[in-house]
Amino acid sequence: MKNITGKKEPAEWKELFESEEFRREYFYEGSDLGAGYRAEWTSFKVWAPTAKRVEVKLYRTGSDREGGSAELGRVPMKRGRQGVWQAEAEGDLAGVYYTYLVTANGETRECADIYGRAAGVNGRRSMVVNPEETNPEGWETEHEALQTEADPKSPVIYEVHIKDFSNDESSGVPAVWRGKFKAFTCPETGLNGDLSKPTCVAYLKRLGVTHVHLLPMFDYGSVDEAGDGGQFNWGYDPVNYNVPEGSYSTDPFHGEVRIRECKEMIAALHRAGIRVVMDVVYNHTYSLDSHFQGTVPYYYYRLNEDGSLSNGSVCGNDTASERLMYRKFMIDSVCYWAQEYHLDGFRFDLMGLHDVETMNEIRRALDALPCGERILMYGEPWAGGPTAMEAGNIQAVKANAGLLSERIAFFNDDTRDSIKGSVFLAEEPGFVNGKKGLEDNIRSSVVAWCDGKGGYQPHGPLQVLSYVSAHDNYTLWDKLMLTGCEKPDFLERDEEILKQNRLAAGIYLTCLGIPFFQAGEEGARTKLGVGDSYNSPADLNQLDWNRIYEYNELVDFYAGLIALRQHFGAYKADGMEVLNRIAFLDSPDDTAAFHFRGSGGCAAKPAAEAVRNRSERGRHDGRRKGCRKAGPEGRTDWWQELVIIYNAGRRNAEIALPGGRWQVLCEGTYFERDSDGRLQALRETENKACAAAMSVTILGR
Ligand code: CA
Repeated sequence: MKNITGKKEPAEWKELFESEEFRREYFYEGSDLGAGYRAEWTSFKVWAPTAKRVEVKLYRTGSDREGGSAELGRVPMKRGRQGVWQAEAEGDLAGVYYTYLVTANGETRECADIYGRAAGVNGRRSMVVNPEETNPEGWETEHEALQTEADPKSPVIYEVHIKDFSNDESSGVPAVWRGKFKAFTCPETGLNGDLSKPTCVAYLKRLGVTHVHLLPMFDYGSVDEAGDGGQFNWGYDPVNYNVPEGSYSTDPFHGEVRIRECKEMIAALHRAGIRVVMDVVYNHTYSLDSHFQGTVPYYYYRLNEDGSLSNGSVCGNDTASERLMYRKFMIDSVCYWAQEYHLDGFRFDLMGLHDVETMNEIRRALDALPCGERILMYGEPWAGGPTAMEAGNIQAVKANAGLLSERIAFFNDDTRDSIKGSVFLAEEPGFVNGKKGLEDNIRSSVVAWCDGKGGYQPHGPLQVLSYVSAHDNYTLWDKLMLTGCEKPDFLERDEEILKQNRLAAGIYLTCLGIPFFQAGEEGARTKLGVGDSYNSPADLNQLDWNRIYEYNELVDFYAGLIALRQHFGAYKADGMEVLNRIAFLDSPDDTAAFHFRGSGGCAAKPAAEAVRNRSERGRHDGRRKGCRKAGPEGRTDWWQELVIIYNAGRRNAEIALPGGRWQVLCEGTYFERDSDGRLQALRETENKACAAAMSVTILGR
């Protein structure tokens, strides 16, 4: 191709990058981009087809602020096939920092390596790293037991921000580790030091969640890592995708420290039997002044026809997943984290900005890893606004759920908004807080919208995340206060709001799908009515463990619902046939009730006859690669059948039960559990159940 190393207008670059010729000549398949460390020498490879000249610049430190003469020298790179530049540097370079000086589009820019695995403070320079030196003790085998577990629990995902988790003194974590990766490594922590009231990881074990989903933990740009620790951000502003964030480490100046501490955090969660999901934000970068833009100007971003930046992320730019080398980058990056950091899942921010093909290719690449089929993938099936995705590609939005792999799940906003009202209209209620006529939506939520009534067709219930709260928007408590109180006092205890909270949890935690909740929802978390707290002070965002213990009985209620779910194996079923086990019962307005059979035969009146013939579609065979897959019925089912009744009305409701005797397990306020944690019957009943106003009633046998 002629003239690709000169200066061009953005719209001209767009035309060039979208041409078939460019795609054909400049796609590099190799897996050796970045710094390849060996004890005797290090190789550098960077894809920069539009560059006239590229040099590697070596530094002693990650920034100039660390004193002395930082520069160690420069190594010219040689241009090779497919636009890949290459150089070697002699000696043991572990701990040496580097950048690329790229001359392209008429200027020379210095940028870090987009494939860099380590970086100096604030991510301006990459660092050569010997990965083995970053492994904590026992790292090689720490993941095996969880990876090959014969009968893994049904996923229940807990969404937490690393700083939020332990930053408050009440967490009982030593001051130097508060807000850091290291906080997760404390084996025992208690409320203000009282170990009889566990906090942090010890608390999560008691709660029973199976997965911790961590808000972005790769290197992001909005917090000064060399600052005094007072800044806070959610971290949806990526700078270095393959490097952990420095402000969560005890030493952001030495690139290997954050890697080791991040791995220690993951190993500690694994030791507690908890799997780890990473929130990844491949849809935009912190700013256009990025390492991507410095390396290949305008290649990695979507442009409108006039050359202006596409902004479907509402963060200033959209990356272009459909461009072959960015698609490859996303696949390589996800697989790198999965393997190097032993992660168990990925959550894709604004997945709707990515194309379906890229998402499915990531799924295939993960599946090809040892036990990779067990790695969860899910994302937000929407975008912030329209995006200039190249024609011929399909956005991974909810309406296209059927085109995604059945094992790429999505957040279900229909369940979320039906239960407690719109996230956009603060005062609009949902089913639990007073809106009428939502019974059918709640029934669709029960079957994870697999009935097709939402206008999209999931492959099966496990393609759907059932939830009511996440880091975005109001906490559940605040939303209920805003809809239920004229002048909400978010810190005031309110029995009516607590009832609504329990009912909301009682619904999504007994629906099909994968339940997900924001950390602290189970303890009436409040952000004092602030919905978008992405850069609010840490003390507004962080978990207040004192408050969690003030609402200890609500926490126990959540723990009871999670235990119920873990001991009713049908919740694990991934195929459509599970819908045939659910039959809705006749019930009055403001209520929904269903009979759920765990094993043997079908319920009397299938929930969704239309899906019967689809029951084999979307099945997944997990028996490959030595990973045994448990049957959909766990061995430890406590009941054969459940009846679950949601009553959002102001009056008690009477529901006719399938014949025979039933144990009443919950009347909306608490669960009785024995010393092994097993749920106990409160009493028995037959023929009918009385469902108290504003509550969830659960019966089993
Ligand atoms: Ca950073």
